[in-house]
Amino acid sequence: MANEYEVKKQICEIGKRMYDRGYVAANDGNISFRLGGGRYLCTPTGVSKGYLTPDMIAVVDDAGKQIGGTWPRTSEILLHLEIFHELPEINAVCHAHPPHATAFAVAGINVPMRILPEVEILIGNVPIAEYDTPGSKNFAQTILPFLRNKANTILLANHGAVACDKSLEHAYFHLETLDMYCQILLLAKQVGNVRQLPDPKIQELLDIKRRLGIDDPRLDGGEVATLGGGDEFLKGFSMRCIPGHTPDSEGRGRGAGIANLPSQAGQPQPTEGTHIFPAVVAGRKLPATLGTSSQTARRRALEDEVERLVQVITDQIVGMNGSPK
Ligand SMILES: [Zn+2]
Repeated sequence: MANEYEVKKQICEIGKRMYDRGYVAANDGNISFRLGGGRYLCTPTGVSKGYLTPDMIAVVDDAGKQIGGTWPRTSEILLHLEIFHELPEINAVCHAHPPHATAFAVAGINVPMRILPEVEILIGNVPIAEYDTPGSKNFAQTILPFLRNKANTILLANHGAVACDKSLEHAYFHLETLDMYCQILLLAKQVGNVRQLPDPKIQELLDIKRRLGIDDPRLDGGEVATLGGGDEFLKGFSMRCIPGHTPDSEGRGRGAGIANLPSQAGQPQPTEGTHIFPAVVAGRKLPATLGTSSQTARRRALEDEVERLVQVITDQIVGMNGSPK
């Protein structure tokens, strides 16, 4: 069994890393660890994770009831316990709101796969669990289907991310890997393009994953919903052929790109016709009548302008009536 005091110190250390990297604001986020024998350590509620001390760490039982420590336990303990009960080999859970990853959770846009090798190996597919009120049993259970599909890192719609592993450090690493990845994706979108790794290279990564003993539904021939990789996100990329690549007859194309592999020109590339895509919330497409994101943005800008003008006119009228005669 783990040395309880040492684990408490490690929880404080991980909390500081989460805070220093900007994954948690104010008192956000929580961390937990399975001690064994139906006992779990967890962070207290209402405390910045950047300033934890070992005496603040609470002890809870299998039902989340506090059985040790004087600081009240996190209100999110049910989320953590759901993971511990579902996955007996998991000992540590970290929950935070890392901003780049949370942006995808807020947008309801799946994180695309098949882009960075480390991400493929260490975390794999990152699903988005449906939104529910934080702290509730329903909220805790939103992640169940994904735990059963071997996800170690899950986005929580309109909220944040949760990651788990055998050790506290590895659970935390998943959050760090995910947020860095999402940041790179957002930067790549600004640069204007992204290339996904082709099947043979993905297979090589899966072979490495098997050798390292890291589970992935693809190793059993299982389905990963976003295997193709976050199509909604990728559709926003440039329509133009990447310089140095082989364009098709319309000037689009991904070209060879990767040494010793067949050209990707001719593989699906976002086109003008498919560029407009519906908003997606927690994996569900909203009705097309809501309009595209750009149409919505334009409409909102127009509404803001009208509102501003109404305010200016109202201020003038009030000013005229209120002015001394
Ligand atoms: Zn949270």
